[in-house]
Amino acid sequence: MVEVMRKKLFIPGPIEVKADVLKEMSRPLIGHRSKEASDLQRGISSNLQKLMYTNNEILLSTSSGSGLMEGAVRSCTNKRAAIFSCGAFGERWYDMALANQVRADLFEVEYGNPIGGQMVKKALDCGKYDLVTITHNETSTGVMNPLPEIADVLRGYPEVIFCVDAVSSLGGVKIAVDELGIDICITSSQKCIGLPPGLSLCSFSQKAVEAARGVKYRGVYFDLLGLYEYKIKRDFQYPFTPSLSHMFALDSQLDSIIKEGLDNRFRRHKMMAERVQRWAKDNFALFPQEQFASPTVTCIKNTRNLNIAGLNRELGEVGFVISNGYGKLENKTFRIAHMGDMTLEEIEGLLSVIDNLLSSGGIQIYA
Ligand SMILES: *Cc1c(COP(=O)(O)O)cnc(C)c1O
Repeated sequence: MVEVMRKKLFIPGPIEVKADVLKEMSRPLIGHRSKEASDLQRGISSNLQKLMYTNNEILLSTSSGSGLMEGAVRSCTNKRAAIFSCGAFGERWYDMALANQVRADLFEVEYGNPIGGQMVKKALDCGKYDLVTITHNETSTGVMNPLPEIADVLRGYPEVIFCVDAVSSLGGVKIAVDELGIDICITSSQKCIGLPPGLSLCSFSQKAVEAARGVKYRGVYFDLLGLYEYKIKRDFQYPFTPSLSHMFALDSQLDSIIKEGLDNRFRRHKMMAERVQRWAKDNFALFPQEQFASPTVTCIKNTRNLNIAGLNRELGEVGFVISNGYGKLENKTFRIAHMGDMTLEEIEGLLSVIDNLLSSGGIQIYA
C-alpha cells in the first residue's frame, strides 16, 4: 500500500472532509433499485433544492463536475453555444463543446477580469445562440463573476438556456438559481460542499428539458434528458449504478450544512476570504480585480518571486498544502482555498506558518 502523508488541504478541491462524513461512505451498501435508494435520492433532492434556492429537478452523476458540464453543453444546444470565459475552466467548456461537435463560439476576457453583462448582451444580440455557459467562480484566476448582472441580461433572451459552472462556489456562496433564471447549475462534490471527489450535481429546468428534446445526439452516460426522464419515471432512481456511498455522505453532509444555516455558511466563507485577501494585499498582491475576488479561493500574485513548489515543500513539513497557479499562471500566482468546512482558525494557522517562513527567509526565491 502507498504511504500517504497526512496534509491539511488548502487547495481548491479536493478539500478537507470531516471524519463523520468520511465514515458515512463506509456504510453497508443498498440496492440501487430499492425503495431505500429512492428515499435516499428524494431526501438529497429536497435538501439540494434548498441549497440552490430552486424548485427545478436535481440530477446526480457519478463523475466529477466536468461530466455534467460536458453533458449540459451537448444535451441542450440546438443552434449554437456562446461560451464565456475568464480562465481555464471557461476554456474547458469550449473544448468540450468542440469535442462533441456542438457549434460554439468563445468569448474571452483577460485573466483576472470578470465577465460583464454588456459582453453577454453584445454576443446574444446577434441571435445566433440558444445556450450560454458562464463560469461562476473561475478557480484558476480567483474571480467570481457577477451572476445577477449577467442574469439580468439573460432575462431579455428567454429562448436561451443559461448554464452555470458553480463547481467552486455552490455551497460557499448564495446562488439563488430560480431568481437568477439559471437552467442548469452544476457543481462537484469535492469543493464547497465538502465531500470526497466522485459525484457531480446539477439543477435542471423545464426549459432545459424542452431544449434537450430537440437535440438528437445527446450521448448516453451524460445525457441529461436521459437522467431526468429516468428519474421521473422510476421514483428518483438513475439509469446507471450511482455511487451510493457518496450519496450516503451527501445526505448526511446536506443535513449538517442546513444545520449550520446557509447564511452562516456563506458568511463563514466571506470572513475567511476577507482574511486571506487582506493577508495577500499586505504581503503580495491580489491577482483578480479586487471587487471580483472570490469568496472561496484567493489567487495571489507571486510578487516576491517565491519558489511555490519550495513553499509547498516547507508547508508540507508541518502538514499543510496550498496550490500553485493553474496552467499558464503557474509560479506567477499561487492559490489558497477557503471552502467547504474550513474555519477561520484553520486559515489563521496556515497564514501564520507562511508568515514565519517569510520572515525567517525559509523559502527559496527564484533568481
Ligand atoms: C474544479 C473545477 C471544475 C472541474 O471539476 P471536476 O469536478 O474536477 O471535474 C470545473 N470548474 C470549476 C470552476 C472548478 O473549480
